[in-house]
Amino acid sequence: MKKVKAKKQFGQHFLLSENVVKKIVDEVDIKEDDIVVEIGPGTGVMTQEILSRNPKKLYAVEIDQTLYPILEEKFKEYKNFELVKQDILKVNMRDFLQNSKIKLVGNLPYNVASLIIVNCVFNLDILHSCTFMIQKEVAEKLTAKPKTKDYTFLSVFIQTFFDVNYVMSVPARFFSPPPKVTSAVVKLIPNNKYNLTEIKKYKNFLSFIFNNRRKMLRTKLDEETLLKAGINPTLRAEELNVEDFIKLFEVVKNDDRKFSDEDSHS
Ligand code: SAM
Repeated sequence: MKKVKAKKQFGQHFLLSENVVKKIVDEVDIKEDDIVVEIGPGTGVMTQEILSRNPKKLYAVEIDQTLYPILEEKFKEYKNFELVKQDILKVNMRDFLQNSKIKLVGNLPYNVASLIIVNCVFNLDILHSCTFMIQKEVAEKLTAKPKTKDYTFLSVFIQTFFDVNYVMSVPARFFSPPPKVTSAVVKLIPNNKYNLTEIKKYKNFLSFIFNNRRKMLRTKLDEETLLKAGINPTLRAEELNVEDFIKLFEVVKNDDRKFSDEDSHS
């Protein structure tokens, strides 16, 4: 096969290690009735491994048009393979839904990895699991505990809805071209812990609270509100656990003044 020149604008770092590919696909735990969606198949290394496990259907969503002929040629024999020629951020994941929930997998483009993960929350009800290769730095945020430097908006938002398992770190030398940072594989499984329906509002609320996360909460919300939720007003956002955020959200969620559309999160 002709060597493919990686494109920076699409965050392309192709996996070289068969072992890493196998380990990721092992984590997905594919059964014959499964609907699998792969984000960014690239030249198809992981796609090939997924198809070897014979899922009911694999949708591979790729944005880079120059890769389409390669993928189409490589997987033309597979009736259960469908190339989706789109930007994952514009895809309606519900179009892929059949009888079983979706197993989402991908060596994600790092420039949009956080956005893709945040979007998973809005598809929670149709997802079985998400197994992603991402920057290690983002993986550390996803698994961070309160009172640590990595504990951010992303930690709380994702941990509210998913159990996050850190599967393994992957050094840059396992990719071509090697990224500047170390990578990591994480597996997200919906935890169904809280019955939160106003997800967009909750996201805006967390963005609002984490904006200047070192400031005391009483600088963002009035003391009465905080005390009603059982939260000490002198605490900072980074000191609250997920349960605290939920309690606080329950108290303030009908107060639209406080958090309209905040998007400054990391
Ligand atoms: N899965 C391949 C591998 O492991 O070798 C490629 C992984 S590479 C890190 C990321 C892939 O996602 C590339 O193929 C890139 O073109 C694709 N991609 C980037 N942005 C995308 C988007 N918004 N929607 C769909 N695919 C995207």
